[in-house]
Amino acid sequence: MTLLQSWPGDDRSAWNVADTNTERKKIRTMSTSDKSTNQRERMNPPLKKSDPFFMSQSPPIYRLPFGDTQIILVSDGTLDLGSPEKSFRGISREEIDAQLSRHFLPTENIVIEETVLVFMSSGKRILFETGTGINPLYPHAGRLQASLLEAGIDPASIDAVVCSHAHPDHIGGLSATSGRPRFPNAQIYISEIDFNFWTDEKLLGSPLDAFVTFARKHLFPVRDRIVFIKHGQEFLPGVQAMLTPGHTRGHTGFLLTSGNQSLYPIGDLSHHHVLLLERPRVSFAYDLDPTKAADSRVKVLDMLSTDRTAIFGYHFPWPGIGHVAREHGGFRYFPRLYRYIGEG
Ligand SMILES: [Zn+2]
Repeated sequence: MTLLQSWPGDDRSAWNVADTNTERKKIRTMSTSDKSTNQRERMNPPLKKSDPFFMSQSPPIYRLPFGDTQIILVSDGTLDLGSPEKSFRGISREEIDAQLSRHFLPTENIVIEETVLVFMSSGKRILFETGTGINPLYPHAGRLQASLLEAGIDPASIDAVVCSHAHPDHIGGLSATSGRPRFPNAQIYISEIDFNFWTDEKLLGSPLDAFVTFARKHLFPVRDRIVFIKHGQEFLPGVQAMLTPGHTRGHTGFLLTSGNQSLYPIGDLSHHHVLLLERPRVSFAYDLDPTKAADSRVKVLDMLSTDRTAIFGYHFPWPGIGHVAREHGGFRYFPRLYRYIGEG
């Protein structure tokens, strides 16, 4: 039985395809086309600044229990990647459009999130990634400091800052443009391979110049507080490092554990919850070694889906917590239910 056949109390003979199409057209016509601008403005007068619909959305903060402790997610904002073929390689535009359309996503401009995770562990406040910092190149990002304050977290109270790699959208929030450190009391954790590569003066003047200049500007002011992390090491309580090279040489993922729960922040193992999962060997424009990046992506996603470990996607749709499972030779992301007040 179809939905229309089961619709109660109707003259079922009236519901055929032709009639439904006519109804759709009528609804569209009623809503827009026949109305003049004046008529539409009378229906929807311009909003005053005091109007609740004019105000910005509530601060993007999400708290959730995790094992014996808590996680707080705060937003740094979003990044516009523009037309998808600029960022995703090894896949035709037709297939990109088909994948996005299947998921009811816009096909013209790819927008990705930057969500920062704060993990409370053994009395320490551990922050993962720092966003872009305030930078005209990233007009919709750089709000981490404001978001932390809105969440009731003083940046000076952060004990540790962990970066998956040294790209601008992960380290840009470490220090202000003036060079003043944003997390004055935190130790900073990053892989030595990434630090050495992205601050290497020999790469100045190369095609990677902008990235290297940026990394030197934001990492050198905090150099004395940087601690290098090693693959397999539990470098902070409940935080284990896992080297996942490819996107950058020292790109690192993390396994967080507390009580009987675990969560894996994937960093930039995937920038998109559909395009790099359905076909995980597709590459991202800023992958330093696309083949290695795909190897790491497949290996880790395979492990996480087998173990049913929850993942956290820094660039995934807010708030970015969910699971991955194998599907049709690739992977599919299943976002965790968003609960308004607490969980469990
Ligand atoms: Zn990134």
